[in-house]
Amino acid sequence: MRALVAERGAARLERRHPVPAAREGEAILRVTRAAASRLEVEAASGLFGFTGVPGCDGVGVVETGGGRKLAGKRVVFSPVVSCGRCALCTRGLPVHCRKREVTGLLGRDGVLAERVAVPTRNLVEVPENVDDDRAVFAHAVGAALQASRQLRIEGKPYITVLGDGHLGLITVQILARLNASVRLLGRFSEKLALCEKWGVKHRHIDDVGRRADQDIVVDCTGAPDGLELAMRLVRPRGKILLKSLMSQPTLQGAGAVGGVDLSPLVASEVELIGSFGGSVADGLRLIEQGRVDVVSLITRRMRLDDGPAILRAAGSPESIRVLVTP
Ligand SMILES: [Zn+2]
Repeated sequence: MRALVAERGAARLERRHPVPAAREGEAILRVTRAAASRLEVEAASGLFGFTGVPGCDGVGVVETGGGRKLAGKRVVFSPVVSCGRCALCTRGLPVHCRKREVTGLLGRDGVLAERVAVPTRNLVEVPENVDDDRAVFAHAVGAALQASRQLRIEGKPYITVLGDGHLGLITVQILARLNASVRLLGRFSEKLALCEKWGVKHRHIDDVGRRADQDIVVDCTGAPDGLELAMRLVRPRGKILLKSLMSQPTLQGAGAVGGVDLSPLVASEVELIGSFGGSVADGLRLIEQGRVDVVSLITRRMRLDDGPAILRAAGSPESIRVLVTP
């Protein structure tokens, strides 16, 4: 089969890549749509030590396995794969499995290929009225929902979402529907124009004061300077939620992550919350109900045959999400 393969920091299109074999409890999907954004670019560049086929988010048709219920069905899936047996899995925290794998990111091949193997229990059937272009966002919407649930919004807090990538743009739509005063800070006028369309407050990241007056800052930048800015925006005893994997997770001396001084967290007693994954089924439901606009986040459509150019397009600063059809 054709597959985009990343190895030692470089990606290439392979035309005779072996079709994945389904292990016990797994299904083989024929991929009908895949998404690429910054995370795929970083995985392909070897940032998380990844080797193989990148691509976390996809839609496919169950070709092999899946049982009577899902055979031949169009599905999306949670990319987080757990063992089901370790102490955390049996305690009801499979997302934090000790042997966790993540499709296209950690130990498993992803969706930038013609076929992908996924555990059957991770699959969620896509309703007929949700097309592939929208369904491919189910995991991202689920992840944004997870952030809103972790925050337990009470009163009418002031919330800033940092970052105008797809995760920031989805998260701000979801938070704006809750009882909150929400704004997004980004860098690109085309992306901020989407907030305008949705009736969501937005500012250029360089145009805001660092007044330490926000109750909650949600960092979707995935960059160390995002956390640094979050610390200057949040009020004492406020909360910072990190929604993106940081692209330079290097420790540089005591109290510093990627060169960021963390002492303001201590001095202002700020709560720092990590947020990982979310429910794909819940994300899909929100998309089906039309409560989040994902179609506007598609910046480009490409074919798998475009090969490494997919990653170059997804990595360009103006890009939000590139959708790939095999
Ligand atoms: Zn486990």
